[in-house]
Amino acid sequence: MSSSEGASAPDWYAEPLSWAKLQHIESWLLGAGPERWPDEVPGAELELAQGRVDLARRERATLSDATVRARLSLAEAGFRRVLSDSRADAQDRRHADAGIGEVAALLDGPAPSVADVGAFKIRKRSAWGARPSIPSRVHRNTRPWRKITVHHSATSSAGLATGSATASAEAIRLIQKDHMETKGWGDIAYHFLIDPAGRVFQGRDIGYQGAHAGGNNNIANIGICLLGDFEHARPDPRAMRSLEELISALSARHGIARSEVHGHNDFRATECPGKNLMAWVQRYSHGSGL
Ligand SMILES: [Zn+2]
Repeated sequence: MSSSEGASAPDWYAEPLSWAKLQHIESWLLGAGPERWPDEVPGAELELAQGRVDLARRERATLSDATVRARLSLAEAGFRRVLSDSRADAQDRRHADAGIGEVAALLDGPAPSVADVGAFKIRKRSAWGARPSIPSRVHRNTRPWRKITVHHSATSSAGLATGSATASAEAIRLIQKDHMETKGWGDIAYHFLIDPAGRVFQGRDIGYQGAHAGGNNNIANIGICLLGDFEHARPDPRAMRSLEELISALSARHGIARSEVHGHNDFRATECPGKNLMAWVQRYSHGSGL
């Protein structure tokens, strides 16, 4: 489109990672979008550059070294554009710096095996100061995991928004307290929690059934909660990246179909996981695997 009439506001945030998504962002950046939404440019550049890195890593085992290097250098150029863009805020700059570091590590490191995809760090319960579960109130999971359900915590705070690990740990302790003291459950409801900076925390031990989807819906159903309120806000791209990696790692390990990735409101009438996150879940579960 040559005129600004053809430009649309950024709308790719709810799209799971794919080359089509990256092409979509690229054509937005090359079109009239940046003129009409200048403040969205750093976010678009970051989403594009990070997407190139993630796909290069994911497809590395099947690509030539030259192709991987070409993709990574495009990503690095994108991160550098963000660093020199006066519209980028402190969080954008931190993301760009981390991205440049990640590109360097990928270029230097040995080629990872396919099994390494999604081999990110999961922080243990001690990292957020969990209290022990109450054994008489939790149930061992006895069947193969068949579903994954995505939730939001429906909470937001200034601390959480800064991406501080301390604020995230505090938010998770409060959720556990509510679940154990107010709801009377044996532990925090979810198996995993993801904070706005993309950190993944272990919640309830995966050896036990969760308490996140209501009654029998919890059977063989892994619960993942993103910290934040996504009825009103858009999830941080770093959190979405971790969510997608966690889901693909869990799906690969347990043989869970893409169509069995749900949002809480697939099981009951609730706002959870918020319309901005639910849009992603729906596109993910209806999409084809990469
Ligand atoms: Zn929920």
